Amino acid sequence: MTLSYPLFDVPFIGVYLIVLSFLFGAVFASFITCTAWRVVRGEDWKMGHSHCDTCGHELSTADLFPIVSYIALKGKCRYCGSKVPPRDLIFEILLGLLFAGTLALHGVVDAAVIAALALEMLLLGLSLADWDSGVIPDGFLAAILVVWILTVGFRFNAQQFAVEGVIAAACVGLAMVIGTAIVSKIVKAKADYGPAKLAACLMLFLGINGAVIAVAAGIVLGIVFALVCRSKKRKMSLAPAISLAFIASFLLKDAFVLLGILLPF
Ligand SMILES: [Zn+2]
Repeated sequence: MTLSYPLFDVPFIGVYLIVLSFLFGAVFASFITCTAWRVVRGEDWKMGHSHCDTCGHELSTADLFPIVSYIALKGKCRYCGSKVPPRDLIFEILLGLLFAGTLALHGVVDAAVIAALALEMLLLGLSLADWDSGVIPDGFLAAILVVWILTVGFRFNAQQFAVEGVIAAACVGLAMVIGTAIVSKIVKAKADYGPAKLAACLMLFLGINGAVIAVAAGIVLGIVFALVCRSKKRKMSLAPAISLAFIASFLLKDAFVLLGILLPF
């Protein structure tokens, strides 16, 4: 069974859904950046109101509208006037644009694009958590598996898609576990299998074409991020590189289809 709605059969609905997806992206970015921040600080991620980091004042609903509140309050806390860093605003705009771009490029509302949007939100959260703490929280990986379970049966050619995904996840996961074990022996550091677990989870969502693009992009971006972390003398965090490689693979695959380019594998 597949669910699919061609986006541009009725141009008004296409534009409407793309604008709506931008708004959803901004709202979900606001939610997930807050969640990541709480997870990193060991707070309960689902309880309690947000508060100002400087004065501790509880924030009202009017302070929490994505993008709009930041601009209306000129980037300052309403209660103590301290400057709010623009990081959250930037991620709200970026995830909004990513949601809108993903939907526009895919051209169809189906299980693939719904899974992609959910993953883009989760990947933003776990990348921020990894960048801030050097650890990929297992809760985010569990959420990725839940997205797979809820969408896999609705994918085009679901059985083949599921089998290919499990094979790609096993191969990439195993290769990365072995690679991590070897590298940690060489540099005499504790092995961190978080990136291997993340890559394996994401491979579940990619057919063979997508997996090949993602692994190639992942190797290039992984080296870039490893060098950036080294030059900044900070703990290695590979989640942003793996996340970007996955998103690039999803978008590139759709771009190739749109341009009529046939992949050789
Ligand atoms: Zn304040």
